[in-house]
Amino acid sequence: MRLSRYFLPVLKENPSEAQIVSHRLMLRAGMIKQASAGIYSWLPLGFKVLRKLENIVHEEQVRAGHIPMLMPTLQSADLWRESGRYDDYGQEMLRIKDRHDRDMLYGPTNEELITDIFRAHVGSYKDLPLTLYHIQWKFRDEIRPRFGVMRGREFFMKDGYNFDLTKEDALHAYNRHLVSYLRTYERMGLQAIPMRADGGPIGGDYTHEFLVLAETGESEVFYDSAVTDLTFGDRDIDYDSVEECQAVLEEFTSKYARTDETHDEALFNDIPEDRRRVARGIEVGQIFYFGTKYSEAMNAVVQGPDGKQVPVHMGSHGIGVSRLMGAIIEASHDDKGIIWPEGVTPYHCGIVNLKQGDEEADAACDALYASLTALGLEPLYDDRNERAGGKFATMDLIGLPWRITVGPRGLKNGVVELTSRRTGESEELPPEAAVQKVAEIYAGL
Ligand code: ATP
Ligand code: MG
Repeated sequence: MRLSRYFLPVLKENPSEAQIVSHRLMLRAGMIKQASAGIYSWLPLGFKVLRKLENIVHEEQVRAGHIPMLMPTLQSADLWRESGRYDDYGQEMLRIKDRHDRDMLYGPTNEELITDIFRAHVGSYKDLPLTLYHIQWKFRDEIRPRFGVMRGREFFMKDGYNFDLTKEDALHAYNRHLVSYLRTYERMGLQAIPMRADGGPIGGDYTHEFLVLAETGESEVFYDSAVTDLTFGDRDIDYDSVEECQAVLEEFTSKYARTDETHDEALFNDIPEDRRRVARGIEVGQIFYFGTKYSEAMNAVVQGPDGKQVPVHMGSHGIGVSRLMGAIIEASHDDKGIIWPEGVTPYHCGIVNLKQGDEEADAACDALYASLTALGLEPLYDDRNERAGGKFATMDLIGLPWRITVGPRGLKNGVVELTSRRTGESEELPPEAAVQKVAEIYAGL
């Protein structure tokens, strides 16, 4: 993309409505614009990152054997009356009437809808196990939408639902989700710690929330610092293997890590004092096993191997895709702006032309652009007639992890400059070598 042809409405001033850094930087970098309280338009740069996050979530879900689909945002109230949640859900549910005076709602989540699909089409244990998911907009009429996309009213969420014959099978689905979530967050350059949580309105005995540590997080968390040493890395886990998934769950959840809802002071005090941590975190996902709560209420039964009808065991699993963008920025920025992890950056590499209009500099930038593109990479080329300082400030603000700077002086010596956004370190090298290096960095991502 050439910046002169793009739509990147960066702001020079700090917007006064933004209280936390991620909100401020997303507004300044021209990624979002508030449409009304807690509801945002995703401008091109923000939309690009959102699509990247969505893709990673899809890829990791499919890798774990889960099946994508799409359910609508508007739902009929009837199903929610059946489950009993129409009255329970309270003010957060946006209730709407259609022209026939029928009660509708903008879905805050989808347990009812998916259970209805399941009971209409699945009748035998032979069709199990089954895990369906979608990535769709949700609406919750939050009392205090704030912090930009972190606590929106409209937000983008992956929600998945597993259906199993037995509790044992459903717990394997639970463990499998925990593993796939760890992989998902790591690909985004994030450490998200699974913490024992509270069932809330969805209910259930087994539930973990995934938290990214950040001072601006809304949840208070208590943990053994040893949990922050754990990394998933690029382990090749067999998702069908009960033992392998169970082993990962045990490794990542056996140390103390809880949100304030489930915190137990006595257990916490058993941790050696120098490892006890009280901090704040951003909830970026949650997994639940809730047994037969919905299947019994909504008659989602299958015929078991013995011919008897039994309610299925279910769980649900959510990732806050739009909130993740805020969480990543909270975890990765400096005074100058965002620093995207390579896995989610909107463009792989910036190209800054120090002397637009100079024949050689323009030609060198065009050649770099073509070589990067030919390798499947997406550069963002700042080809505007602007001062170098302004170009650098924009690149730093929008946070592309790598920048190639091209100027007549370097070109005389046959070199361009490759700069890391994270470390600020630069090296001079021939243009082809810079392209190679960038390609190597992104290989496999
Ligand atoms: P919270 O406690 O933050 O209100 P929740 O526990 O109600 O969230 P879940 O039902 O577990 O949310 O939804 C799954 C994920 O969706 C959450 O882990 C979070 O990342 C995201 N999410 C929930 N509410 C919002 C919101 N208002 N804005 C943005 N993302 C949200
Ligand atoms: Mg939650």
